[in-house]
Amino acid sequence: MKLRQFLKKVFEVYHPFRWTMAKVFVFIALIQALNLVTPYLQGKTIDALFSKKPLSQIWLLIGIALAASLIRIGLFYWRERYELNSVDFSIPYHMNQITVGRLCEYSIGQHISENSGLKQSKINRGQHSLSALAQTVLYQIIPIIVEVILLTAVTLYFNKIIGLILLAGVSLYIAFMLYLNHLFKDEAEMVEKLEHEHSKFQNEVLRNIELVLTNARESRATKECGKSLKGVQNASRKLWLRFVRLALLGSAIPTFTRFVIFAVGAFLVYRGQFTVGWLAIFLMWSNQALSQLSQISWLHRQLIQMYTSVKKYFDMLDVEPDVKVLPNPVCPDRFQGKIEFKNVTFQYKRREIANDINNDEDAPYAKAEIGPALKNASFTIEAGETVAFVGESGAGKSTVVHALIRAQDPEEGQIIIDGNDLRVLDLKRFREAIGIVNQQVSLFDHTLRYNITYGLNGRAAKVTDAELDKIAEMSCVNRFFSRLEKGYDTIIGERGVKLSGGECQRVGIARALIKNPDILIFDEATSNLDSENEALIRKSIEKASKGRTTIIIAHRFSTISNADKIIVLSKGEVAGIGTHDELMQNCEPYRRLIQNQVSML
Ligand code: ADP
Ligand code: MG
Repeated sequence: MKLRQFLKKVFEVYHPFRWTMAKVFVFIALIQALNLVTPYLQGKTIDALFSKKPLSQIWLLIGIALAASLIRIGLFYWRERYELNSVDFSIPYHMNQITVGRLCEYSIGQHISENSGLKQSKINRGQHSLSALAQTVLYQIIPIIVEVILLTAVTLYFNKIIGLILLAGVSLYIAFMLYLNHLFKDEAEMVEKLEHEHSKFQNEVLRNIELVLTNARESRATKECGKSLKGVQNASRKLWLRFVRLALLGSAIPTFTRFVIFAVGAFLVYRGQFTVGWLAIFLMWSNQALSQLSQISWLHRQLIQMYTSVKKYFDMLDVEPDVKVLPNPVCPDRFQGKIEFKNVTFQYKRREIANDINNDEDAPYAKAEIGPALKNASFTIEAGETVAFVGESGAGKSTVVHALIRAQDPEEGQIIIDGNDLRVLDLKRFREAIGIVNQQVSLFDHTLRYNITYGLNGRAAKVTDAELDKIAEMSCVNRFFSRLEKGYDTIIGERGVKLSGGECQRVGIARALIKNPDILIFDEATSNLDSENEALIRKSIEKASKGRTTIIIAHRFSTISNADKIIVLSKGEVAGIGTHDELMQNCEPYRRLIQNQVSML
C-alpha cells in the first residue's frame, strides 16, 4: 500500500469527523497564535526598559502578556472539553463499528479458514493504533506543525534574514525525518509482522491451555513463548537503536540552526538593524519552533509503529468478502423449503482474512491444495420432507450444510431454494428462516435465556417463560434444569455453570427450535447424547419436523430411520438416494455403513 493510498484510507475512515477535527484545528491555531504573543511582549518590554520608557507602560506590557496567557489557558480548557465530548470517545466507537461491521461481511468460509489468534491480534492492534494515530496526529503533531509554521512565518515577516535561516533549519530537519521514515518503514513492518506472529503463538497456547496442562508441558509453553518474544524483541531493539542513533544525529540540525540565528542576530544588532528586544523575540520564537520540532522526532517513532499496525489493519479490511448479496435480492416472507443441488462442486478455499496475502509463500503449510469436499453433487429435497444424510466421516455431510447456508459459494453448479438461485436470495432473510444445530454448539458466556434466544430477531426480549418452558421440554433442556440455580437466568458458558457436551447440544437444539424455522438442520446434533435423551429428542425432532423441511445428519441408524429419504455421500459424491430398504438393496456404500454399525452393537 502506497503512502497516498494509505492517507486516502485514513481520510475515508475519519470522514465523519472532518468538521469536528476542523473545529479542534481552529482551537489549536488560536492557542498556538497566542504562544507567539508572549515572547513578542517580553521583547517589547526589554526595549522599553532600554529606552527608559515610563514604568506604567512597562506594567501595561506585562499586564497584556498575563492576559494573553490567561486567555490561552481558557482556550485550552475549552479545547479539552470539546475533545472529550466529541472526539476522544467517538473515534474508538466509530473504529469499533467499522471493524465489527466489516468482519460480519466476510463469509463463514473466510472465517473458518482463519487463524483466530492472528485475526484477533490484528484487530486489536489495528483498532487501537488507528484511534491512537488520530489522537497523536490531532493533539500532538498538528499543534506542533501549526506552531512551527506560524513562528517561521512571523519571523520571516519581521526579518527576512533570520526568517530564512529558521526556514532552512526547519526544512532541513523535516527532510531528514522523512528520509528516516523512508529508511525504516520496511524494517518496522518486518518487526510488526514478527510481533503478530508472537501474539498469534501466545493466543494459540492460551487457547489450548488445557492441552498444555494435561500433558504437563508448562515449561515448554513458557519457553516457547519466551523464545518467540525474544526474537521479536531482538529485531525490535536493533531497529530502534539504529533509529535513535540516526535521530540523535539529526537533532544536530536544530542545535546548529539555533546557534546560527544567535550569531547572525547578534551581528545584526551590532550593525543596528534591530534592537536587543527584537533579538530576544527572534531567539525565543526560533527556540520555540526548533524545540517543538525535536519533539516530533520522538513522536516519529511512535508514528512509524502505528503506521505499520494500521496498514496491516487496512490490508485486512481490504480483503473482499467472498460471498456477496445482490443489490435487490429476492426476499420472501416464508420459505416452502424445497432445496435442489444441481451438480454442485464445493471447495474450501485457503483465502484468509488476516494473513499476509503476499507473504503466504513463505509458509509451506499455507498453500496446501485441497480437493473439493463436494463433487458434482445433485439431489432434491422436497418442501416439508425429512431427509437424512449419511456417509463416513469426511464424506462431505457438513459441507452440504455449509453450501446450503452459503458459507461460501460453490465452484460449480447451482443451489436452488424454492425455485430461486441461492445467490439471488436475501441471505440474511434466508438464514433467519433456518434453524441449525451443529455437533459443536457455540455458547456465549451469558445466561441460558440469552443463549437460547440468540437467533431470534428482535423478538428475543418478548419471549415468555412459558414459551421457553415448552422449548426446554422439546429439547430436553428441562432435564438438567434442576442444576441451574437461577433457571433461565443462570450464566452458562465459560465463566458460568459448565455444561457437558450433551447439555450444550440440547441448548443448541432449543436455540434452533425457538426460531420456528422453515428449514431445520441437525448436523450430528445428538451425537453426544446418551440413548435415553437421544430417544426423547428424536421424538421432538419428529414432532418439530412436521410441516417443514428437515435435514438430519447422524450416525445412529435409529436417528435416520424416520427420514422420508436418505442421501448417501461417499468421498464428496452422492452415492445413492432412496429409502433404507432401497439403499440396502442397491447401494454398496450404504450397506457397508449399516453393517459396520451393526457389528459395533
Ligand atoms: P463430514 O461428512 O464428516 O461432515 P465434512 O463435510 O466436514 O465431512 O468434510 C468434507 C471434507 O472437507 C473433508 O475432507 C474435510 O477435511 C474438508 N473440510 C471440511 N471443512 C474444511 C475447512 N474449513 N477447510 C478446508 N477443508 C475442510
Ligand atoms: Mg461433519
